Amino acid sequence: MEDLLVATTNQGKFVEISAFFKGLPFRLQSLRDLSGAPSVMEDGETFLENARKKAHALARWSGRRTLADDSGIVVEVLGGRPGVHSARYAGETATDEDNRRKLLAELEGVPEGKRGAAFVCVLVLAHPDGRELVAEGRVEGRITTVPRGSGGFGYDPLFFVPSLGKTTAELGLQEKNGISHRGRALRLLKDRLQSASFKK
Ligand code: IMP
Repeated sequence: MEDLLVATTNQGKFVEISAFFKGLPFRLQSLRDLSGAPSVMEDGETFLENARKKAHALARWSGRRTLADDSGIVVEVLGGRPGVHSARYAGETATDEDNRRKLLAELEGVPEGKRGAAFVCVLVLAHPDGRELVAEGRVEGRITTVPRGSGGFGYDPLFFVPSLGKTTAELGLQEKNGISHRGRALRLLKDRLQSASFKK
């Protein structure tokens, strides 16, 4: 069993990620299990830059293989915004609801056919010696005009998936993980981890 640090303090994310690693020879820990971790500024211009920065900084600090993710929503008509700024779209102290309200205001009057968007998740698994594995997941949808559903978090009540006829806030956890950007990235990473020689 190898230790694998998941670079998050978010317990929900940690539980979700742990489920994907079941059956693999890793003992997962989150940042909540270690004290004194350096805080890493997510100031990159891409999801990949941010996830890389976090994964490598914490792998060097901990001496363990470290998995970091960065995710957000990209909206076509906004040229890809809010993108890497999704969590702080309406300001540094913005709540999920503030961010959703801002997105709806920005898209006011934009017709259904032009409300295309995607959730994106980039995962980087870094080795303390600098090696890395990268996996990206995406799910396409469109932004609703009013919130729908009470599940999930963040932009879920505004993200409509046409093939399911529901927003991601109207999906159960399993159902969301089955189609979500994070679920897709995790499945890819797991495959790569099993086939790649990412050994000690
Ligand atoms: P982070 O990767 O935890 O920094 O998340 C970035 C932000 O993107 C979150 O705060 C949410 O606003 C948004 N986001 C990322 N993934 C999801 C999702 O699955 N549903 C809804 N919003 C998400």
